[in-house]
Amino acid sequence: MIGALEEVVRGGQSSAATRFFSAGAGVSSCPRSLISRMKNASTATTAANGIAQTKTVDRLDAMPVAPNPRGLVADEPTTPLDVTVQAQIMALLKSLRSEYDMAVVLITHDLALVAEEADRVAVMYAGSIVETGSVAEVFADPRHPYTKGLLNSVPVNAERGAHLKSIGGAPPDLHSIPKGCVYQARCPLASDVCRSTRPTLQPTGAKRKSACHFPEEVTNV
Ligand code: SF4
Repeated sequence: MIGALEEVVRGGQSSAATRFFSAGAGVSSCPRSLISRMKNASTATTAANGIAQTKTVDRLDAMPVAPNPRGLVADEPTTPLDVTVQAQIMALLKSLRSEYDMAVVLITHDLALVAEEADRVAVMYAGSIVETGSVAEVFADPRHPYTKGLLNSVPVNAERGAHLKSIGGAPPDLHSIPKGCVYQARCPLASDVCRSTRPTLQPTGAKRKSACHFPEEVTNV
């Protein structure tokens, strides 16, 4: 599974959907048994948690795409469900992944879900991937200031009343992306080269990349 983190604004609403895809198979009906299982899971979670009914059914809409899916894209599949229903959803996704031998892509803001379920992660900012690699490596040693900021914002052993850390500023207007790095306005490492030259994804390890001019300095942020 791959987790992708994206800071986006959707009119104050989170959207959630599950999509299947199949390379080169064209568009056809999703297997009836698969749709049935998705709906059964919806009903089961409804019984377990009435409040979650509508949202759960929404996120388990099986769109007709492929008879033998090669992959599944789950957009915010567990937001904002309680942990019991989250576990049911993830158990179903993992079961389908094994049964169909397919890839699963999770799109989520939930760092804990990524840590628990994903093998690789692609961190997105302003519509672009700014860092990618194995979850273990990226979470342990981020090489982009935005990734570091996201991880720092997770409360760990926070004392009651303590201020939570956050990333200052706001995402750029996507209609007016600045010259240079898209993260420059919020980055504590920003310098002249960041304001003039947009960084591209470059290797920072065997199987990881970062779009930052100073990946080695992120440790000190
Ligand atoms: S390129 Fe510069 S502004 Fe962009 S993330 Fe790296 S240090 Fe910060």
